[in-house]
Amino acid sequence: MDSLAAVADLIGPGNVLTAAEDIAPYAVDWRGVYRGVPEAVLRPGTTKEVSELVQRCAAEGLSIVPAGGRTGLCGAAVPLANGPRSVVLSLERMNRIRDIDTRDFSLIAEAGCVVQNVQQAAAEAGRLFPIQWGAQGTAQIGGMLSTNAGGIRTLRWGNARELVLGLEVVLPDGRILDDLRRVRKDNSGYALRHLFIGGEGTLGIITAAAMRLQPALKRVETAFVAVPSPDAALSLFSRVMESGAEVIAFELCGGFTMETAAKHGVGLRIPLPLGSPWYVMLEMAAAHESIPLRAILEDTLGAALEAGEASDAAIAESEAQRQMIWKIREDYPECSRTEGPAVGTDTSVPVSAVPKFLKIVEHELKTRWPEGRMAAIGHAGDGNIHVSLHAPAGMMDRPAWVQRAGAMEPMINEIAVSLGGSFSAEHGIGQSKRHAMTTHKNPVAMDLMRAVKAAIDPTGRMNPGKVLP
Ligand SMILES: Cc1cc2nc3c(=O)[nH]c(=O)nc-3n(C[C@H](O)[C@H](O)[C@H](O)COP(=O)(O)OP(=O)(O)OC[C@H]3O[C@@H](n4cnc5c(N)ncnc54)[C@H](O)[C@@H]3O)c2cc1C
Repeated sequence: MDSLAAVADLIGPGNVLTAAEDIAPYAVDWRGVYRGVPEAVLRPGTTKEVSELVQRCAAEGLSIVPAGGRTGLCGAAVPLANGPRSVVLSLERMNRIRDIDTRDFSLIAEAGCVVQNVQQAAAEAGRLFPIQWGAQGTAQIGGMLSTNAGGIRTLRWGNARELVLGLEVVLPDGRILDDLRRVRKDNSGYALRHLFIGGEGTLGIITAAAMRLQPALKRVETAFVAVPSPDAALSLFSRVMESGAEVIAFELCGGFTMETAAKHGVGLRIPLPLGSPWYVMLEMAAAHESIPLRAILEDTLGAALEAGEASDAAIAESEAQRQMIWKIREDYPECSRTEGPAVGTDTSVPVSAVPKFLKIVEHELKTRWPEGRMAAIGHAGDGNIHVSLHAPAGMMDRPAWVQRAGAMEPMINEIAVSLGGSFSAEHGIGQSKRHAMTTHKNPVAMDLMRAVKAAIDPTGRMNPGKVLP
């Protein structure tokens, strides 16, 4: 970038990174699969600075790759390996919670706020910021919104999109779209914010968001349940949903998945013996102390055991035990990495189709890659099941396994889509799922997406090579 000195004047020399070792963390994705080196990493501190930087990049013909916590799983926050000249624009310094209004049940946070810090700030104000997933200690609000993240509580409060009341966005020409309002009803034309939510930085840079809060949870009950099959899990799901309690999480894990967590998870204690083909982790909550949540959970699980929907169950007896159950879930992606190479999916189907989906997938994988080891884990309560095929035990050569088993991903995408589901449930498209856009995305939808991109980013400088094939 020729005008680095001028940019340094604007945002401070310490916020223009150009040394190879400083840039290195921004040049590779979380999985270590995608690499691309930017000319510089720019770290603005205000919306005005973002706007100014965007204009200067435009003047120099530089592409911009916005970056949050860089925990995305589709290679969306790193430049293309052989792409156009680009800078990474990291929002990490824009980490202020601008306002919390408890009576409005809302807050305004800047894009660089770490999600967990927003959760904590809401809790300190006696409110709940409900989204939750394994990377929340690193992922940022801007990344969360740009990927429309889901996580374990989608079944109760929806994806990130559902939390948003208003956005502040810097457009590719540097203009600021100020729609940071907390109003709950506004039918004055197109809801433009929804273009940027899930836009993966291809249409503009989110700098702040007004988001909904919920009443704090006063009671929470969590159970770890062994179930004989996904069919049984689905029956259990209906049972807990009909129990009268608010169900805020319902996760399904396969037996091999749990063995992998037990093998590699540091300090993890699995509450039930290994050996069950499937496990469910579920959580109920109430916003008032007087709700007899424990009794509801015990009755529900008792009935499920009697009906054969569950073979064993453990209820968390303390906050530490509750956290341990969720630590198993949240640490699993790291445990899976340690176990060795795998090819995976981010598939979803209607909740009622989860058992059929898993039956077909299991059969196809066993038939085509009998040497592979199938792992399944997911947010069964919203129909999002991540299926992975691990290389045979001891095989650590990732490229070789990808070459051998890479066809598994499109095959499972196809199964999900044929059951009315999606090949991209919650992680987005980035670089890794663009091929599936060509195969599965409705052509009319693709036309509209291209038209939107051309209208907002006519020179194509916002995160090129991502989302659109
Ligand atoms: C261990 C682990 C578990 C995970 N579990 C889940 C899960 O359960 N559910 C789920 O949905 N995801 C999950 N993810 C994926 C990931 O955490 C989410 O996609 C997250 O929302 C990404 O946030 P980030 O700040 O890290 O974004 P980044 O990875 O930095 O960026 C992601 C995308 O957003 C764009 N972007 C970032 N900031 C901005 C901005 N301010 N304006 C415009 N564009 C921007 C980037 O260009 C990129 O396209 C998991 C990831 C890990 C590593």
